[in-house]
Amino acid sequence: MAQKKAEPKKQSAAKETKAPAKKKTASAAKKTTAKKTAAAVEKTAPVVEEAAPAVEKTAPVVEEVASVVEEAVPAVEETAAAVEKVAAVVEETAAVEEESAPVVEETPAPAEQAPSTPRRSVAFIGSECHPFVKTGGLGDVMYALPRELVKLNCDVRVILPRYACIPQKYQEKMVYRGEFYMDLGETGRNFYVGIMEYISDGVVYDFIDNQEFFSSGKPYTNLVDDIPKYCFFSKAALAALNYMNWIPDVIHCHDWQAGLVPVYLRTLFQDSPVGRARSIITIHNLRFQGIYNIPTIKYWSGLPDYVFNMGALKQNWEDANMFKGGLAYADRITTVSGTYAQEIQTAEYGEALEDHLRYHSGKLRGIVNGIDYDMWNPATDPALAENYWLGNVLDHKMANKLALQAELGLVQDESKFVVGLISRLTNQKGLDLVNAIIPHIMDGNTQVVVLGTGDKQYEDTFRYYEGAYSGMFSACIQYDESRAHRIYAGADALLVPSRFEPCGLTQLNAMHYGTLPIVRETGGLKDTVEPYNEFTGDGNGFTFDRYDAGLLLDAINRAKTVYFTNRYHWDEVVQRDMAKDVSWENSAKQYKNLYLELTQW
Ligand code: ADP
Repeated sequence: MAQKKAEPKKQSAAKETKAPAKKKTASAAKKTTAKKTAAAVEKTAPVVEEAAPAVEKTAPVVEEVASVVEEAVPAVEETAAAVEKVAAVVEETAAVEEESAPVVEETPAPAEQAPSTPRRSVAFIGSECHPFVKTGGLGDVMYALPRELVKLNCDVRVILPRYACIPQKYQEKMVYRGEFYMDLGETGRNFYVGIMEYISDGVVYDFIDNQEFFSSGKPYTNLVDDIPKYCFFSKAALAALNYMNWIPDVIHCHDWQAGLVPVYLRTLFQDSPVGRARSIITIHNLRFQGIYNIPTIKYWSGLPDYVFNMGALKQNWEDANMFKGGLAYADRITTVSGTYAQEIQTAEYGEALEDHLRYHSGKLRGIVNGIDYDMWNPATDPALAENYWLGNVLDHKMANKLALQAELGLVQDESKFVVGLISRLTNQKGLDLVNAIIPHIMDGNTQVVVLGTGDKQYEDTFRYYEGAYSGMFSACIQYDESRAHRIYAGADALLVPSRFEPCGLTQLNAMHYGTLPIVRETGGLKDTVEPYNEFTGDGNGFTFDRYDAGLLLDAINRAKTVYFTNRYHWDEVVQRDMAKDVSWENSAKQYKNLYLELTQW
């Protein structure tokens, strides 16, 4: 009962602070937040004092927690009840949409609306997003999918940490949206939560500001820091939605960093306004799960004891797994390809969660990623030496190969077969296979270009090969977006021999640039690259199945044979790949359908 009384109080508090907040300029906001957070880092005690009024604000939340703890039941069991609840919530939600109208108006109306599909509001919560911060495919998806959903009549808000490493040009464009203080776990402290906003192409980006957690030069550091960071982020993201009084129909969480969001939603936040939202969690990579000992995660998250059971967060009896909890409590689970959705239910790919995923397989499905055609378009790509498109690729792609060879100090020769590899240099990406076969493919007619950073052993090996095969092997041990674009355009083929690959974007980028992928048949690679058929000439690239260096070598040799002896067929595949639809359009429709399925009214 206590929380029922508390709700209106909280909302009105949020509304009171909201109005003046909008008027503040970016620079003023910067000044305020910088000052406050700096103080928070340096002097803990005064901050607590400073936070005194805020403590009052957050008090109702504390009351809510106590009652919710008793009431909440794990999502697993409550599905049926939840479905009923949704119907009841329908009316309420409509009312809330009216209430939050001013906020909705802030979002520029999407240029093209598909009136046939009903409007839905979605909050994306995740740890990275191009162009602000990106370490891999998750950053691409967090950028492209919301933009596509806007075209499908969705209101999308993307909630991200405001890392210090976000480039200054974006920091400057952020507008102060408000601030509040939030308790966190058993710390006994109230933490500053600033909200900085940036709107682009109809998508609203809300950055959660707190320098104590987000001041590192990179998003991920080590688990000791990352566990508290993402406990704070997950809770702050939901609190921010309540604070802004923007209650989405669906909360779409991404990877372990947002793993606690569905758990918070059904426990501490169940009876707050945001508790009405349904939740989806997407697995972009199951390898990383946010596992730490139970006392630490309990301390930082403040989640009730009963979520630390074997059906939810608990794992191996003494550890808590943030991703596992999110999978248990989310209303739906998606992963980024149909094949990976099957694979993760097996011991080979399940990363010790295969039983848990099989148990929840009824709410699991695969939706393959796409690529953003504005970002990846060889006809307009400013990074390229020469632009080209489907109609003239056979005449103009070559100029990019020659330019790439010149840029990287390789022998400039049109007739060489150039193989690219653009990847995080980690064990997942099949680099031990690549290392094993390099000497076998360096035949004088083949050049290899590697772009990536990661494990030192791989970086060193590729540097060694660069020395050993001077003029024929280039090891670019760096993260360089525009060079990546030039490699996609200038190479003839791209290697993706991954041990596992949830979806993989590099093979999609490559195909779109007329560069043939050579991939292992796993996860999204299997779903997106149809093997070349030497009899019919059909297919998109070259594939091998078992994780075996000999099979990778065989696939590369088959590619070379077609390239050197059957250029007509090769060129046909180049054009077929460029014509293939690897855009987000189709996949975004599937996500939209999923949102509708979850929120039927
Ligand atoms: P993952 O998410 O496992 O790293 P994906 O294939 O899904 O792999 O996504 C990788 C993305 O990161 C692609 O857009 C790729 O072009 C980009 N990328 C990877 N390494 C680099 C690098 N060193 N420099 C520039 N872009 C890179």
